[in-house]
Amino acid sequence: MLVQGKNVQLLEKIVAERCGLPHAIAMNSCTSTLHMCLVSLGVGPGDLVIVPSYSWIATANVVSLCGAHPSFVDIDGRTFTIDPNELEKHIKKLKRRSATSRRLKAIIVVHTFGQMADVVAIRALADRYGVPVIEDAACALGASYDGYTAGSAGIMGCFSMHPRKAVTTGEGGIIVTRNTRMARMLQALRSHGQMVTASGTEFMVPGYNLRMTDFQGALGVSQMAKLDQILSKRREMAAIYDSLFSNTPVTAPFVDTRGISVYQSYVVKVPACGRRGPVKVIELLKERGIETNIGTCHMPLTRYFRSRYCYKRGDFPVTDQVFSSAMSLPFHSGLSSGDQKKVANELIRAIGDST
Ligand SMILES: *Cc1c(COP(=O)(O)O)cnc(C)c1O
Repeated sequence: MLVQGKNVQLLEKIVAERCGLPHAIAMNSCTSTLHMCLVSLGVGPGDLVIVPSYSWIATANVVSLCGAHPSFVDIDGRTFTIDPNELEKHIKKLKRRSATSRRLKAIIVVHTFGQMADVVAIRALADRYGVPVIEDAACALGASYDGYTAGSAGIMGCFSMHPRKAVTTGEGGIIVTRNTRMARMLQALRSHGQMVTASGTEFMVPGYNLRMTDFQGALGVSQMAKLDQILSKRREMAAIYDSLFSNTPVTAPFVDTRGISVYQSYVVKVPACGRRGPVKVIELLKERGIETNIGTCHMPLTRYFRSRYCYKRGDFPVTDQVFSSAMSLPFHSGLSSGDQKKVANELIRAIGDST
């Protein structure tokens, strides 16, 4: 049994239990899981799906792959997650016209860098306006917010097991849900549309082949056993950086005390560096042997979405500001506190040298 055998099943059981939900469905990537969530909700050509403007590009790509349009909403500049006030304004705007109201099919919220969005406010809006919420919890396995575990606040939640995330299966993604009908549909969609019915196995829908292999399942099972240890190490490292950056020009990540972040990456803000982001600081640090990166994508200003929908600077002012100042720092289990101190000192020096 090389593909989707008992190891994949065991991994699904472990992840479902971890989230306190009855169903988990493993696939070959988180991008596939997000895509299939939309397909299972019937999102199709001409539909609208709300997504935050600041995320990894997959969050918006999956909407376009369904023939639908991503409808971008600006973020909160402190948490980097979708701004509930902007979200409400945006939903109201779409609901005012029957043409757009009819086409609004879902909201994807992103738990950016491992910190959950304000799912309490978002759920209240989703319930009031009757729009299902999908959680892009790619970076947030193990995070929580005001009683919700990541993946449990929407109708479906998606985790990534890419090597950049806390636990990995090489490539891989897992959807969790409490909705049995959705779970059945997702299981069919990942494997040629096959469903078990009263009269045996039938091909019920045109499906894909997005199965996880059983090698990956086995790796995932052994990785999940280390999750708590990995997450506590990451919290310790975050606390060390936090203290190194107090009273410096570097702004440490904002912590919303209603939630517990898993720090998938440690993203700081440096004094704003213009439209291309802190590329100069990143270059200077690279010359000094320290690898850093921008936070994530300003999706409406990436080439495809910008040219297709004519977005420009100023359309998403908070994302503009965050994109010009956010930087992801070295953050892995091999990092010593001495390394962290060196990173902090060199970062502060590079900021001085770049201006
Ligand atoms: C990593 C990531 C994805 C994609 O995950 P894959 O498993 O690489 O497909 C989607 N959304 C966000 C926010 C991510 O960080």
